[in-house]
Amino acid sequence: MNASFEKTILRPPASLGVIGGGQLGRMFVQAAQRMGFRAGVLGAIPDGPGAQVAHWSVVGPPDSLATLRSFADQADAATVEFENVSAPALRWLAHRMPVRPGWKTVWVSQNRLREKTFLAKHGLPLAPWRPVHSEAELTRAVQDLGMPLILKTADSGYDGKGQVRIDKPDQALSAWNHLRRVNCVAEGWVQFEAEVSVVVARGHDGEAVTFPVALNRHERHILDATVMPAPVGPIVCRDARDLALAVAQALGTVGVLTVEFFLNEEGHLFINGLAPRPHNSGHLTIEAAVSSQFEQQVRALCGMPLGGTELTSPAAMVNLLGDLWRDGEPDWLGMWRRDPGVKLHLYGKRTAAPGRKMGHLTVLDADRDAALVRAVAARASLTRR
Ligand code: AMP
Repeated sequence: MNASFEKTILRPPASLGVIGGGQLGRMFVQAAQRMGFRAGVLGAIPDGPGAQVAHWSVVGPPDSLATLRSFADQADAATVEFENVSAPALRWLAHRMPVRPGWKTVWVSQNRLREKTFLAKHGLPLAPWRPVHSEAELTRAVQDLGMPLILKTADSGYDGKGQVRIDKPDQALSAWNHLRRVNCVAEGWVQFEAEVSVVVARGHDGEAVTFPVALNRHERHILDATVMPAPVGPIVCRDARDLALAVAQALGTVGVLTVEFFLNEEGHLFINGLAPRPHNSGHLTIEAAVSSQFEQQVRALCGMPLGGTELTSPAAMVNLLGDLWRDGEPDWLGMWRRDPGVKLHLYGKRTAAPGRKMGHLTVLDADRDAALVRAVAARASLTRR
């Protein structure tokens, strides 16, 4: 960030811009507007989830100068809802306004090789891994890591895209060919007991807070359900929160950062990935926490003191994927007849493709297991005809 904006504080009704117009941008905009800010998005399409609810929107790729100029004309500060924004674009903006998080946090977390190299350099725990830029490195990775392993593209992988599991050494080359021989990381298989995540918010003064640990369940590599607080012991919780804070501190992040972990049987945590932004596993903080992850994003962007991360209730969240629309519109009426306490979030996406995140449900319940049972039952009731 340009030094002159490091300490900048923005007050309502300043205009806050988010790069990316999906559901995370939409929920950022909604949080900002609730606090009296103007809010806009830079998105790929005119009527995306973010643009639908924003005061203003700019349509175009985030790395085009014309798009950035138009964004800079309307925004007093910028944040991101996804990691694939180029460092030069963020630095260009940072000469004109506060950009939080800054280019370094985004740049490190947009590439698995950079991310793992950075974390390893800071002594943070990772599953065993090796870089793969060549056949020789692939062979060495297979020897060093053993079977099974996962080959993941260094760039632009999410929700299990760009990854192949390798069970036998002679599958390694065809797996890499399948990934078009791009730069990859090879990761040793982690026999995990659970997947957990921590959302951290860090202010420009270095003050940082973490939400309670979330327990995440994935289906087909896509987040399916989250429960918070995670039913894991207090020492593991403390470790996960401390590690998340250590990552944010090492990166010098100003804004919201999510750290995903594998937790093994012995209680060891391994960092699986970073996101320089609010995360799907934090959506339930909208209802369940004193300040949501999106409110924290707004506050950190504006240089305001961060909000409370305590939960007002345990909660569960389940994602609503496009598959639920296969036989028509889900039965919202039937769902609420069964359980009026369910909170519905829809992202305004026009077409429902299988695997596409269309919305989510949140349930608050003093008993977190009951919250999950109710959320899953509510989702199941949507397609019962
Ligand atoms: P990622 O895109 O890296 O977050 O991976 C998506 C999902 O694949 C994770 O949430 C895990 O369920 C699974 N996975 C990824 N890497 C590993 C690993 N090294 N060992 C076991 N499972 C993994």
